Amino acid sequence: MTAVLVVNSGSSSLKYQLLDGDEQVLATGLVERIGGAGSIRHRGPGGEVVVDAELPDHTAALTLMMRTFASAGVELAPDVVGHRVVHGGERFSAPVVIDAEVEAAVEELAALAPLHNPPGLLGIRAARQAFPGVPQVAVFDTAFHATMPPEASTYAIDTELAAERGVRRYGFHGTSHEYVSQAAAAFLGRAGRFVVLHLGNGASACAVSGGRSIATSMGLTPLEGLVMGTRGGDLDPGAVLHLLRTGSSVDEVDTLLNRRSGLAGLTGSGDLRDVLAAAAAGDERAELALGVYAHRIRGYVGAYLAHLGGLDALVFTAGVGENSPEVRARVVDGLAHLGLQLDPARNEARERGARVISPDDAQVPVLVVPTDEELQIARHAVAAVG
Ligand code: ADP
Repeated sequence: MTAVLVVNSGSSSLKYQLLDGDEQVLATGLVERIGGAGSIRHRGPGGEVVVDAELPDHTAALTLMMRTFASAGVELAPDVVGHRVVHGGERFSAPVVIDAEVEAAVEELAALAPLHNPPGLLGIRAARQAFPGVPQVAVFDTAFHATMPPEASTYAIDTELAAERGVRRYGFHGTSHEYVSQAAAAFLGRAGRFVVLHLGNGASACAVSGGRSIATSMGLTPLEGLVMGTRGGDLDPGAVLHLLRTGSSVDEVDTLLNRRSGLAGLTGSGDLRDVLAAAAAGDERAELALGVYAHRIRGYVGAYLAHLGGLDALVFTAGVGENSPEVRARVVDGLAHLGLQLDPARNEARERGARVISPDDAQVPVLVVPTDEELQIARHAVAAVG
C-alpha cells in the first residue's frame, strides 16, 4: 500500500490531500494565511476541524497539518509526497523525483514564474523537513504541453533572443488537462481529438489529440489566452508598451494584468457567480463581461477544431466549467454548424461525475468531466517512485 501526500503550496496557503494505495482520499485540508495569524481547515475520518495558529512560514504550516492529523488519531506517514510545481520550463517534460539538482532547477525557473515557483519550493523544503527520507516528486503544470509541436509553442519574435531568455509558449493547467482528457477518453471508450476547457479562477483551453497536448491557450506565463477571474488573457502586447509609456510602472502593469483584469477588471468581481447574478439583474457591464468571456472561448474552440482537423468531444471542467450551465450554453449556442449543441435538460441537470450534456444524436459529444489535479499528482508521484 502506498500512501501519498499531495501538496499544493501557494505563497500564503497550502492545500493538501492524503490518498491511500487505492486512490481513496483519506483526508484533505487547507492551511491559509501563512506568514501571520493563520488557520487550518482539515477534513478526515473524524470529520472537519478548524484550528487557528500563528504560522510564520510553510514549515509551521506543515507542522500544524501533522499535529492536526495526530489529534484526529491518524499517524501521517506518507510513502511519497507529490508536489504541484507550476513551471517546469524546457527542462521538465515529466514528473521527477526531487533531488538537490532538481530543486536548484526549479529555483532557476522562478525567473519565468516569479509568482508561482517560489511558493512551490517552500512547500518542497518544508515537506522534506517534515518527512525526512520520504521521496518527494515534482509534478509540473507545464509538462503535459511538452508535446506541442514547435509551430504551436514558438512565438514569432527574434529566435536567438527567445532562446536566450526562454521566451516560448509553455502552457499551464497541464495536470488538469491531462487528467480530464484521460477521463474523457475512458468515459467515451476511445482517445480522440478533444478540446478541453478548464474554466476556473484561472482558465485555459487545450487541444488534445490521441492523449497529447498539441496546442494550449496559456503561454510563457499563465496570463495569455482566455478571460479569467482576475487576468484578462489575450492582449495586444502594444497595449503593455502603451501603458508603460504613458505613466504606468512595470509593477503597476503587473498588478493590472494579474489582479485587476479579467472578470474583476470588467465588473469589479472576479467570481463568476457574482457576474452571473449581476447580469441577471440587468447590469450591462456584467453582461458585456460574460459576452467577452464566451466570445474568447468560442474563438479558441474554432481555432483548435482547425488545428485538430475535427473534433471528437468538447469537454468542460473546473469551477465554472463543471458548475455553470449558463456559461456552457453561452459557449456552445450557435455552434451547431460545427456539430456542437447542448441538450438543455442535460446541461441544467445538477449532477456530479463525468456526463454528456449534448443530445444523443449530436455530431460531437459535449461533456462535463470534473477535474482532479490532486489524484493525477498522486498517480504521477506513485509512478515516479516505481
Ligand atoms: P481555481 O482555479 O482557484 O481552482 P475553481 O476551479 O474552483 O478555481 O473555479 C472557481 C470559479 O468557479 C469561480 O469563478 C466561481 O465563481 C466559479 N464557480 C463555482 N461554482 C459555480 C457555480 N455554481 N456557478 C458558476 N460559477 C461557479
